[in-house]
Amino acid sequence: MSTFSLDPGPDQLAVRDWLHGFAADVMRPAAAEWDEREETPWPVIQEAAKIGIYSLDFYAQQYFDPSGVGIPIAMEELFWGDAGLGLAIVGTTLAAVAVLANGTDEQIGTWAPQMFGTPDDVKVAAFCSSEPDAGSDVSALRTRAVYDEAKDEWVLNGTKTWATNGGIAAVHVVVATVDPALGARGQASFVVPPGTAGLSQGQKFKKHGIRASHTAEVVLDGVRIPGSCLLGGKEKLDERLARAREGTKRAGGKNAAMATFEASRPAVGAQAIGIARAAYEVALDYAKTRVQFGRPIIDNQGVAFQLADMKTRIDAARLLVWRASWMAANNQPFTSAEGSMSKLYAGETAKYVTAQAMQILGGNGFTREYPVERMHRDSAIYTIFEGTSEIQRLVIARAISGLPIR
Ligand SMILES: Cc1cc2nc3c(=O)[nH]c(=O)nc-3n(C[C@H](O)[C@H](O)[C@H](O)COP(=O)(O)OP(=O)(O)OC[C@H]3O[C@@H](n4cnc5c(N)ncnc54)[C@H](O)[C@@H]3O)c2cc1C
Repeated sequence: MSTFSLDPGPDQLAVRDWLHGFAADVMRPAAAEWDEREETPWPVIQEAAKIGIYSLDFYAQQYFDPSGVGIPIAMEELFWGDAGLGLAIVGTTLAAVAVLANGTDEQIGTWAPQMFGTPDDVKVAAFCSSEPDAGSDVSALRTRAVYDEAKDEWVLNGTKTWATNGGIAAVHVVVATVDPALGARGQASFVVPPGTAGLSQGQKFKKHGIRASHTAEVVLDGVRIPGSCLLGGKEKLDERLARAREGTKRAGGKNAAMATFEASRPAVGAQAIGIARAAYEVALDYAKTRVQFGRPIIDNQGVAFQLADMKTRIDAARLLVWRASWMAANNQPFTSAEGSMSKLYAGETAKYVTAQAMQILGGNGFTREYPVERMHRDSAIYTIFEGTSEIQRLVIARAISGLPIR
């Protein structure tokens, strides 16, 4: 077990500086354009792939870094660059984490590389859990997976919504119900390989923020996939279903979608911190140079105190994210839902800080001439996806009370 440290080692600092350079030199100059275009920024993803930032190796290295801070440092820097482009670059990792969390070694070895493609032929992946009638309530999923024993194939039918990279992905990871009577415990995750018939993109959403990241419905119409595409394998699923039917629960047992979300929450919190830090820096610079009433506006306590609160909350959020990331990397159980705490606080902080930054920039903050307007729009998703703030509070409240709070 590594000791928790606030002092990143030389390797992590080198990664931070490397990503910061990419964020400053490549992402920032491209951010406004891709926000307006609302299209997947393939050239930026390709550039990230060419230098190794968009690659399985890079994320695996950070993911398995025992200090736990590799992923949050990487996420913070990329999202400091720009959140829309950042999500276009890291959206694949949600699907990759689903395979890592639920798949066998063989499945990880087969599918994870295909999610990223190669620098000359870049691919993305999608994680499809949410449905029109199953957002916060993951147990209400209706997408069905039926096993065709004669052919050793699974047949998937249903409609997924809000899928990041949905329909444009090479590999889709789909959460479906095998036994609807068991609710969340009757679900499993499946890989839908590239080019599988029956999977198509539905509506692509026009969004308030993170507009360079593609979000769409995914329609599954009689999608047939080999038995080997069930993550974790049939034997494990059958055992799990049998336990669920008997009403017993293995300690630490979790459903497929929740396993993915738990592992990724601190990383999502780190993304929110990247946005917040970017907006704070713009606001601090602006407050020092903008003169009203014959003095820089930061000379007013009212403005300076706003900046003090912004910085304090950003640093507090980072501490929560680093703690949760360290705990996850060192197999410390989240007894007080520390992963949810970190995502809750970081998401709320990003919304708060970007709103304050707009206020400090006055009229300029409200225009697209300055980046805080975009950062404010981008921040809003951080209290919604990967579990809304209310759902994080629910998870924390249940963990600390041991009660089935509703
Ligand atoms: C841009 C974007 C990208 C996304 N990417 C993905 C993705 O890649 N894969 C994927 O599977 N999903 C993705 N999602 C879906 C996202 O995770 C859901 O939108 C989110 O979980 C909320 O679900 P919902 O939108 O159905 O809201 P609802 O669940 O309908 O919630 C509506 C409101 O009710 C509140 N609420 C609901 N239940 C309770 C409760 N018990 N107590 C208190 N308040 C409650 C919520 O907090 C919220 O404020 C994405 C969403 C967006 C917008």
